[in-house]
Amino acid sequence: MMFCLNGMENANERMKIDLHVHTTYSDGDYTPAETVALARGAGLDVIAITDHDECRGFLELHGEARGLTVIPGIELASRFGGEVHVLGFRIDCENKALLGHIAHTYGLRRERAAKIVKKLNSAGIRISMKDVEENCQSGVLGRPHIAGALVKRGYAQNAKEAFIKYLSKHGEYYVPFEKISVEKAAELIIGAGGKPVLAHPGLLPSEAREALFPELKRMGFWGVEAYHPYHSGDQCAEYEKKAMTFGLYVTAGSDFHGSAKPLTEIGAEKRGGEYLRESLEALLDGS
Ligand code: AMP
Ligand code: FE
Ligand code: FE
Ligand code: ZN
Repeated sequence: MMFCLNGMENANERMKIDLHVHTTYSDGDYTPAETVALARGAGLDVIAITDHDECRGFLELHGEARGLTVIPGIELASRFGGEVHVLGFRIDCENKALLGHIAHTYGLRRERAAKIVKKLNSAGIRISMKDVEENCQSGVLGRPHIAGALVKRGYAQNAKEAFIKYLSKHGEYYVPFEKISVEKAAELIIGAGGKPVLAHPGLLPSEAREALFPELKRMGFWGVEAYHPYHSGDQCAEYEKKAMTFGLYVTAGSDFHGSAKPLTEIGAEKRGGEYLRESLEALLDGS
């Protein structure tokens, strides 16, 4: 299900899109309804709600998105060597296998948050799971919620500092949670009727990226998020070219979270040309 209230007859104009948006269903600051209002305020035509390991924010809208097309999506954490994020677009948010995975990951994320809190406590940093949970409406606990607790208790000025001091992947308090393979992530998305897209390839280590690109098509991927605020212009061009070489479409998104990434506003990723437009048309008509 996708709702489309302003029609796709505008497809020849440059639509304003943001295909990577987080809400309170993961680590974003705004509820799905507030996110839709922000998107409308920013003059966007299409957004995709892509929460980390959760897709039910879309259902909360009950089709209420006046003047805006909302694509039901997800951002699955997976692994290919290191951590790889896989976006899924036009998924059935009630798909059983996907909801099973979401429930499982929910538990893993909670256990992992408790382990990080315990490590911090052993180093004399006094935050509790209650502090962490108070920051998280959805229960899909991520490091940003722990960052919020650290800020609240005065251990960091802001989320960025909390990440640098305590939550970085390379720091002593980091604990990973078990991830599914990239292939399995694509399979879950396809099984839910959706289109898998490699999220922000520029955030992957270069060896992983080089190894993964040639495998994407075989794994059933539909596209690559070539346009992301953390990509330089050269990177966007490179990933778009690679996507075309491997027969994949491209997408663009801001990865909007609200205060967790204060420099990224909804709709802020405005780059992309003809091939992005072509990809968007394919996405919206389901090809
Ligand atoms: P997790 O999925 O729990 O490992 O947390 C990853 C999330 O943390 C990302 O989706 C970002 O929202 C956020 N994040 C990662 N690095 C940083 C950072 N340096 N500063 C602020 N937020 C970050
Ligand atoms: Fe996030
Ligand atoms: Fe991501
Ligand atoms: Zn994201």
